[in-house]
Amino acid sequence: MRVLVTGGAGFIGSHLCDRLIEQGHDVIAIDNFFTGSKENIRHLMDHWNFELIRHDITEPIMLEVDRIYHFACPASPVHYQYNPVKTIKTNVMGTINMLGMAKRVRARVMLASTSEVYGDPKVHPQKEDYWGHVNPIGVRSCYDEGKRVAETLMMDYHRQSGVDIKVIRIFNTYGPRMALNDGRVVSNFIIQALQNKPITIYGDGSQTRSFQYVDDLLDGIFAMMEKEDFIGPVNLGNPDEFTIKALAEAIIDLTGSRSEIIHKELPKDDPTQRQPDIYLAREQLNWYPSIKLTEGLKKTIPYFEQKLKNL
Ligand code: NAD
Ligand code: UDP
Repeated sequence: MRVLVTGGAGFIGSHLCDRLIEQGHDVIAIDNFFTGSKENIRHLMDHWNFELIRHDITEPIMLEVDRIYHFACPASPVHYQYNPVKTIKTNVMGTINMLGMAKRVRARVMLASTSEVYGDPKVHPQKEDYWGHVNPIGVRSCYDEGKRVAETLMMDYHRQSGVDIKVIRIFNTYGPRMALNDGRVVSNFIIQALQNKPITIYGDGSQTRSFQYVDDLLDGIFAMMEKEDFIGPVNLGNPDEFTIKALAEAIIDLTGSRSEIIHKELPKDDPTQRQPDIYLAREQLNWYPSIKLTEGLKKTIPYFEQKLKNL
């Protein structure tokens, strides 16, 4: 198949490109390199079935493809809040552009939505039928509401024009190829620990997240893309829930670091808890994550070690 990956030079997008190339597809990656980097896909550049287009998805583009993995959007709070208007545009105009393309060339299109559509959830764990608790005017809303509108657009193009859609809600995912300046918690803590610098816990560290290793996510993505008669939305995440304090301790332990823990101000609207209910993914896709946090961290730490060495 001919496959398009938007955000193909990013953390998840570049792993997707790798797997799609392995599967023998013709892969086109689109990226504007806001948070992604050529380094993530350098090894694919000589592949005859890989193409890279520097393009901003807020502008229309037309390509003849069979599948669209729509992953372009900064995912780290630091980056999506850097230019919030651009984040909204990427989610709204970018998604309209991808849906327009899908409609015209009859491609199947998957949206990488997020657990952030549940906001600071009042229901725990979060199930797909929970409508969420999102601040519509807060600093995170460019991303949260942006993704919620993107989901709405997906559903409306499906209902109105019969576009073949898939919606996945990804929970906190980590692994190699996260940028050094990504700013999310796993990469921040690993880098700080490896440099024996203070580990910055925002707030008291009692807030929770459920961390998924990228390989597990990829299995879920492919199972969903090729599943017939199921459009989602479906949660893809690892239900093992940890406090941020426990994450910091695990990383100090695994790196043998001398770092101390310090506390910084909790960012505004920071969700207090998050855990996916993955019953639907199990039932529909026969998918569930198998990589435990410690195992995933052990695969991720050497990547950052190498990155820091090459600085
Ligand atoms: P990332 O920042 O590494 O990747 C995003 C990629 O999109 C980057 O390569 C960036 O340059 C590109 N991009 C951003 N805006 C663009 C635009 N306007 N035009 C073209 N390219 C653009 O983040 P990631 O963690 O790989 O996330 C990928 C997708 O998965 C995002 O849509 C994100 O919202 C979603 N997601 C990720 C997580 C996670 O924990 N990693 C959780 C939920 C959802
Ligand atoms: N966090 C932290 N220290 C950091 C980065 C993040 O304590 O250096 C906290 C953050 O406040 C949040 C959690 O870790 O409670 C997860 O943050 P991240 O930015 O990774 O993802 P999100 O909040 O979008 O789930």
